[in-house]
Amino acid sequence: MRKLALSDEILMKVDKPARYIGNEFNSVMKDTSQVNIRFAMCFPDVYEIGMSHLGIQILYDMFNRMDDVWCERVYSPWPDLHEIMKQENIPLFGLESQEPIKDFDFVAMTLQYEMCYTNILQILDLAQIPLRSRDREDGCPIVIAGGPCTYNPEPIADFFDIFYIGEGETQYGNLFELYKKAKADGLSREEFLHEAAKIEGLYVPALYEVEYNEDGTICCMKPKYDDIPVKIKKQVQVDLTNSTYPEAPVVPFIKATQDRMVLEIQRGCIRGCRFCQAGMIYRPNREKKVDHLKDVAAALIKNTGHEEISLSSLSSSDYKELDELITFLLDICKEKKINISLPSLRLMRFRSISCRRCRMSKSSLTFAPEAGTQRLRNVINKGLTVDDIMNGSKQAFEGGWNKVKFYFMLGLPTETEEDMRGIPELANDVAALYYDTVPKEKRAGKCQITISTSFFVPKPFTPFQWARMYEPSEYLAGPK
Ligand code: SF4
Repeated sequence: MRKLALSDEILMKVDKPARYIGNEFNSVMKDTSQVNIRFAMCFPDVYEIGMSHLGIQILYDMFNRMDDVWCERVYSPWPDLHEIMKQENIPLFGLESQEPIKDFDFVAMTLQYEMCYTNILQILDLAQIPLRSRDREDGCPIVIAGGPCTYNPEPIADFFDIFYIGEGETQYGNLFELYKKAKADGLSREEFLHEAAKIEGLYVPALYEVEYNEDGTICCMKPKYDDIPVKIKKQVQVDLTNSTYPEAPVVPFIKATQDRMVLEIQRGCIRGCRFCQAGMIYRPNREKKVDHLKDVAAALIKNTGHEEISLSSLSSSDYKELDELITFLLDICKEKKINISLPSLRLMRFRSISCRRCRMSKSSLTFAPEAGTQRLRNVINKGLTVDDIMNGSKQAFEGGWNKVKFYFMLGLPTETEEDMRGIPELANDVAALYYDTVPKEKRAGKCQITISTSFFVPKPFTPFQWARMYEPSEYLAGPK
């Protein structure tokens, strides 16, 4: 019988114990005597955030389709449990088997944002795995990093054995085959890593020499051996339609941050906003075939029980078959009273969608002008004019919405006080437009404009990668 890693006493003490017990609907159990590879897929953040991440669900599904691989999930324990695990010397465990991940073959972490870097160390520490790659011996899991942050691996290079650069669908199969062969041939950890470094897209930092300039930037880096690549090539899954996709994703017992089905309709973006790392690193844009998406949507609805389906993409409205897909979804979702959420919508495409909005969530309308003035939108190559914003908002109001959310960034290169002031001014103009557009008797309530701002962070592999980032004190001191 499956034994939980945490006692009832501990589970009763901590907040949201369902984060740690696994066994959720659609989670995968396997017989350890039948598998060759134990894989821990970690999201270095709390369960509710990690469970909302599509990439983990894709790889979890893909790996567990392989008969001899068992992939389990791991999330960062909340501080209350962290303290107990440290006090009682309980090693971090996989949710499915509840067994310590230090005994697994691989521990992989997806790195989506830099703010989670301290959680990398928390996971390794709780797992009782040496923090630094150089201190790990034969028998320790191979620690891998994936996700967008690996495009700038050097700040965290000491802690990982392998960085997987690019999309996970392409090379894990080759890595697993190599691992099984290395095990059968009795290769050491070092020998295995040397062979792994020859797989396209894998960067093994221990096998490279890196020299730094005085200011901390990289002066040069070169491989220590002639048989490993000088440059690492990012991996792209070219045919997305025919790649595996989780049609029966794990459904959590507790509410996740994104508590819905996710239908990935395309990967990449045809735009070229200069601050946007996702837009750059997920190139080229690849659309999935609409007939395939219809099948996946039907399967997701059948296999989960969620009340909302969200179309996932960097820019949903650029998907060419969007109208056909929405028509199909409206049809199948109507009967089951399932909402359709359309994030990442561009204002220009709003009319054709909004006219058939009958079952689309009224809370899902968000737009991202990113900058408050046309000058700055041109600088960042946003390709959105005031007219686009006003026309799109007008159509939203005419379509029955009275709540619109706008996303902006502060601290963009060349930003002036005028650009900052442009943000509330634009919001005021849009609010005024609501009252001009919708007659009093037809208003669903007050107009609600939500302005959400974040601070610009220069990202690797974007045109703004060397732009400066403002210190918090500069913002707290007031407008420049
Ligand atoms: S910000 Fe959005 S539209 Fe612009 S490149 Fe990135 S994903 Fe595409």
